[in-house]
Amino acid sequence: MTPITIKSVCVFCGSRVGAAPAYESAARSLGTALADSGLRLVYGAGDVGLMGAVARAAAEAGGQTFGVIPVHLLRREVGKRDLSTFVVTENMHERKKVMFMNADAIVTLPGGPGSLDELFEVLTWRQLGLHEKPVCLLNIDGYWNPLVTLLQHIVAEGFAEQSFLEFLEVYDSVDALMERLRSRS
Ligand code: AMP
Repeated sequence: MTPITIKSVCVFCGSRVGAAPAYESAARSLGTALADSGLRLVYGAGDVGLMGAVARAAAEAGGQTFGVIPVHLLRREVGKRDLSTFVVTENMHERKKVMFMNADAIVTLPGGPGSLDELFEVLTWRQLGLHEKPVCLLNIDGYWNPLVTLLQHIVAEGFAEQSFLEFLEVYDSVDALMERLRSRS
């Protein structure tokens, strides 16, 4: 496997803040940590929920921000135009493609159905050997435990290879995740 130097990180996360204050707090910490480490944030360009929190924190800490939003969500997700780069796409598929192409690693914070859709696309592409970008899950307060259990169940019941689980790197804290992103592997 070719070692990847990570310069740009795609963050998938909720367009809502969720029930526990720890989710928004982790999103803010991640935004600040990315900026402090000189890593560019690539995300869905919204100014709502955890999306807005991570982007505001990254920008406030002087980091580079690259947002990608489809034209039909500009109003609903409050397209954040004060980003270093702001890209408007025709549709959801293009948004995901542009985000993926402009990142060296993918991180998923707590989120809802949209975050799951985004995560599973990059995870299944990884399993198919279409890319080698790290796919990380930030499991704040055990939010993603049910998902990890489901994936283990899928493997145990013979619907995926054991290696599928290894493609998903699970981190419990922003610090542990950042250590991974700063490493060259
Ligand atoms: P959510 O996790 O549901 O709050 O959504 C997080 C982000 O995923 C939002 O920017 C949504 O617009 C986006 N999203 C929702 N559904 C999809 C989908 N089918 N494909 C790609 N992105 C989506």
